[in-house]
Amino acid sequence: SRPLATTDPLVHALIADELTRQQSTLEMIASENFAPVAVMEAQGSVLTNKYAEGYPGRRYYGGCEHVDEIERIAIDRVKSLFGAGFANVQPHSGAQANAAAMFALLEPGDTVLGLSLAHGGHLTHGMKINFSGKLYSIVSYEVSPEDFRIDMDEVARLAREHRPKLIVAGWSAYPRQLDFAAFRAIADEVGALLMVDMAHFAGLVAAGLHPNPVEYADVVTTTTHKTLGGPRGGVILSNDAAIAKKVNSAVFPGQQGGPLEHVIAGKAVAFGLAAGAEFRERQERTLEGARILAERLSQSDVAEAGVSVLTGGTDVHLVLVDLRNSELDGQQAEDLLHTVGITVNRNAVPFDPRPPMVSSGLRIGTPALATRGFDADAFAETADIIATVLSTRPDDSALEALRARVEALASAHPLYEGLGDAAAA
Ligand code: PLP
Repeated sequence: SRPLATTDPLVHALIADELTRQQSTLEMIASENFAPVAVMEAQGSVLTNKYAEGYPGRRYYGGCEHVDEIERIAIDRVKSLFGAGFANVQPHSGAQANAAAMFALLEPGDTVLGLSLAHGGHLTHGMKINFSGKLYSIVSYEVSPEDFRIDMDEVARLAREHRPKLIVAGWSAYPRQLDFAAFRAIADEVGALLMVDMAHFAGLVAAGLHPNPVEYADVVTTTTHKTLGGPRGGVILSNDAAIAKKVNSAVFPGQQGGPLEHVIAGKAVAFGLAAGAEFRERQERTLEGARILAERLSQSDVAEAGVSVLTGGTDVHLVLVDLRNSELDGQQAEDLLHTVGITVNRNAVPFDPRPPMVSSGLRIGTPALATRGFDADAFAETADIIATVLSTRPDDSALEALRARVEALASAHPLYEGLGDAAAA
């Protein structure tokens, strides 16, 4: 029962350093967010001790009366949030959710049509050395070289040619909404199932600011830690009772053993918050921030440096920056922004001439800053700092001045105030 600071001062100090990093820099990795203290409290609770293989009311362990109730609450809240008839809240992560959903719907060797990783898809949508690429026969669709948007005619052509058992719609790096109705029509035409992976944009869906894929897909998977702003984890949703049964068996015992009930409690808290007005307002600022960033990075000073915004804008919480015509590559741009205190990740752009470890793109997202309370003015200032870094080749003193602007934004938007030692306790 000794606190972490005395049990393990080394790990304690590193957690404290990470808290300071999160507080003093601007987090713009599109897949990240800041979980509420209430979610972290649930995750750091005694629930971490409990084994609960099985499902509420049907466990293989005794003493599950409280975790049963918690898991039921998480299930009910997420079903109502997304209008789904069925939810499994046990997947440990988004990748686990996708593995289990595919395990439920497919046999090894079946054909899957998904978005290519190089064009914004996720590893689990068919990357060669991922389980998906190893177990299934993958056909990938891409974005169009003209407008960098998914070309639904091309998706339809590939579906007719390859007759996939499953079509996967969803992305990790794509700045536009998908046409779920068109995906549904193609799936129906070729007799395929449709899975939507809404990991990135689930928070926008929950807030009613993005079409809801649950209305179109046979199965929907998501993470709970991106725009949704909860604990790290995954969820699988469906409105088909037969698929629901297969999904439950695919998660446990198919893919996992004991569920992480402490994380499931965090999910329950996050789903409760996501149904509220404050959450919706935050998602609105997330979208507004991304639009402000896309507009600033489309202005002439940035364009003259060979930097542009893929697809010319955004409908979601992220902007993809195209550096193919810039002297800066993705690695250099990521490092320069890191120097001024802005954290982003480099990202290959479609048709990228540079190797993936260097790449010609940046993925910049606004969910974490929106959680921190950024409004239009704060996002405009952030966008101007990024535009200056990417377009002016700042020297050391210019970088120092930009870093001071970042620090001013960070201190004007306090994060985890008063958490201090408690975060690491
Ligand atoms: N699906 C998509 C679309 C993602 O972007 C990600 C995460 O980056 C995942 C699934 C996997 O989530 P996790 O990292 O929790 O396994």
